[in-house]
Amino acid sequence: MVSRVIPVDPFDLVIFGGTGDLARRKILPGLFRRFCAGQMPEGSQIIGAARSEMTSDEYREMVSEAVAEFGSGGTCEAGTLEAFLQRVSYVTTDARGDDGWVELNGKMRDDTVRAFYFSVGPSLFGDLAERLHRFGMATPESRIVVEKPFGHDLETARALNATLAQHFHETQIYRIDHYLGKETVQNLMAVRFGNMLFEPLWNSQYVDHIQITVAETVGVGGRGTYYDNSGAMRDMVQNHLMQLLCLIAMEPPAKFDPDAVRDEKLKVIRALESVDWHHIVRGQYGGGENGPSYREDVENPKSRTESFIAMKCHISNWRWAGTPFYLRTGKRLKARASEIAVVFKEAPHSIFGADAGRHRNVLAIRLQPNEGMTLDVTIKEPGPGGMRLLDVPLDMSFAEALGPEAEEAPDAYERLIMDVIRGNQTLFMRGDEVEAAWAWTDPLIEAWQARNDVPKTYDPGSSGPEDALMLMHRDGRKWREVKP
Ligand code: NAP
Repeated sequence: MVSRVIPVDPFDLVIFGGTGDLARRKILPGLFRRFCAGQMPEGSQIIGAARSEMTSDEYREMVSEAVAEFGSGGTCEAGTLEAFLQRVSYVTTDARGDDGWVELNGKMRDDTVRAFYFSVGPSLFGDLAERLHRFGMATPESRIVVEKPFGHDLETARALNATLAQHFHETQIYRIDHYLGKETVQNLMAVRFGNMLFEPLWNSQYVDHIQITVAETVGVGGRGTYYDNSGAMRDMVQNHLMQLLCLIAMEPPAKFDPDAVRDEKLKVIRALESVDWHHIVRGQYGGGENGPSYREDVENPKSRTESFIAMKCHISNWRWAGTPFYLRTGKRLKARASEIAVVFKEAPHSIFGADAGRHRNVLAIRLQPNEGMTLDVTIKEPGPGGMRLLDVPLDMSFAEALGPEAEEAPDAYERLIMDVIRGNQTLFMRGDEVEAAWAWTDPLIEAWQARNDVPKTYDPGSSGPEDALMLMHRDGRKWREVKP
């Protein structure tokens, strides 16, 4: 397979929060890998900006350590890091003060693409937007990249949209959801809209139900205060799971262009029915030998915030009426795995009799680990003894199918940053999408808060609370096993 790196124009990329965790773990190593792949043309520069007093040399040292620690990629030649670091500099800048801004502006060039990555806490987004404008850095061609969380609820998301809109047009705002940058997620669109095989079956007539699981083994880690104020609904469902749901459920857009795709996603969110509280299970991991409990982790002995949520949703439109979508996500579960499973209905009549058992085709799209897809098909169990049926997976691991090409494929952050440079917003959330997602989640959160709902405790390393299993069992269905 021929490796194809699509060239981009030279760019100036300022990373506000350039000393932070996200910059060190994802953004900077990702940019280095793009540099190695030849995707950072001559004349491009990366400028770290944060309050810490640091020279550019000291910052380059930090970048070099971040690249060493968080992955340099397989194909970088010796000496490449030195060449990359020559493109990197640092300006001490305060989002809430005027220090550093004149110097930062002095580094900007007029004839290059300008991108400003807001890798800072959301309370600083407005300050950054305002200062970029006031210091004359926000040209009509410049772009801002905004990290999650985008608001805490509908009201705050609206306010944030309004603040950013004072200084930037919607076409300049890139609200990042790194799930959308994953290879498999984009493949979901390729599979749905590039093949004739699936589309005729992609509706409530043939699909029994759809499961979306994003399971993590880690706890809340050092994000205790933030997480306890958010919970799984705000931290995961409102953005990542909702985006996956949109891609799996949306109508085919007329073309693969940013607004056509996002218009269709928005229609899905707006067609989501409110969820009956019997169809929501909230959980919190307990503690014990395996480590601290959720409440210990967040240092809040009375916390009622969920570290796990499972729910059954319905989409009120012609395609999906009657097909449930089961979503679940949680921390400290038994495996780290993200998967979308489209479970088809059984054949209407079995010619093989009751002994052959019940069988369903399942198309499973694995987001992590080991990105790929499997399609479970029913075959005859080999050997004598009559017609016994067996479900076996047609398995496509991208790493195996695509070989080294898959290994070298850009990760989600790399891909999305390059999309920003190209000016392609297809894989970024539009303001109205984010607001619609909050408009759906807010009443659900308010309802359980009004009921003083207490999350069910679950064992770390399990599949979540028993009630989540019951949510499926009651409907005669079961969750797919999450495998590491
Ligand atoms: P972090 O480690 O706390 O870093 C925050 C950065 O902001 C630091 O570089 C800090 O540097 C800078 N900063 C703080 N106050 C500032 C100010 N007044 N002016 C200029 N810079 C300032 O946070 P993070 O984990 O990197 O997260 C950054 C953003 O990404 C957050 O919105 C977070 O929700 C989001 N995010 C993070 C991850 C992740 O894996 N880390 C994942 C998804 C989303 P100084 O203290 O030197 O100023």
